[in-house]
Amino acid sequence: MKSSRLLIVEDEPTLLETLKYNLERQGYDVVTASDGVQALSTAREEKPELVILDVMLPGLDGFEVCRILRQEMSLPILMLTAKDEEVEKIVGLEVGADDYLTKPFSMRELLARVRAHLRRVRLLREELGSSGQGIHESPNGGVAFTFDDLVIDESRREIRRDGGVLALKPKEFELLLFLARNRGIALGRSLILERVWGWDFDGGSRTVDVHIRWLREKIEVDPASPSRILTIRGIGYRFDG
Ligand code: CA
Repeated sequence: MKSSRLLIVEDEPTLLETLKYNLERQGYDVVTASDGVQALSTAREEKPELVILDVMLPGLDGFEVCRILRQEMSLPILMLTAKDEEVEKIVGLEVGADDYLTKPFSMRELLARVRAHLRRVRLLREELGSSGQGIHESPNGGVAFTFDDLVIDESRREIRRDGGVLALKPKEFELLLFLARNRGIALGRSLILERVWGWDFDGGSRTVDVHIRWLREKIEVDPASPSRILTIRGIGYRFDG
């Protein structure tokens, strides 16, 4: 089996070397970056399966890098922090990392977390794959998600249903892509608003509801009783595929 590629982002050279050494010894294919800007370009080029990301970095910090990566790709992000106060922010909706370790941490603990996250992602992909569904990498690096008759093609920026291309507004596309990347997870309206419309958007969460209604009209068999995009009372929505 191909070894998993990991990206380590850390500006302390000694820690970076130690992490790289230990992860390579476990058979991982390791790429590294020592600042936030480099982290983004390396992630885009190397397409790692998991990122270990330090919070305090020169230039763009780990929070910012995490937010950007979250919008561009779907992969586990494990953050490293020196301060307990940052933990809430790291795992909160604002940054949305999958996990964190507080420095100093044990290498054994780090390796265990890395293994667990990679296993989780692999199981999810297998689950999608075995049901004839799947996430497929396209030649230019984008992915296409297939859910029965529905294909969400990120690289072509198009949604197909029963082979026909659906006419979607740009935000409808972004919204559906975000939902698909987080399949099976209940997503709050404010989180959706932030990730799809951005921080500077003035409109309220009604915007999300309106776009969900439009999407349902296009992708649901019966928009009045949806089976793909479910309403989660008191929270928001969940895409079930
Ligand atoms: Ca640092």
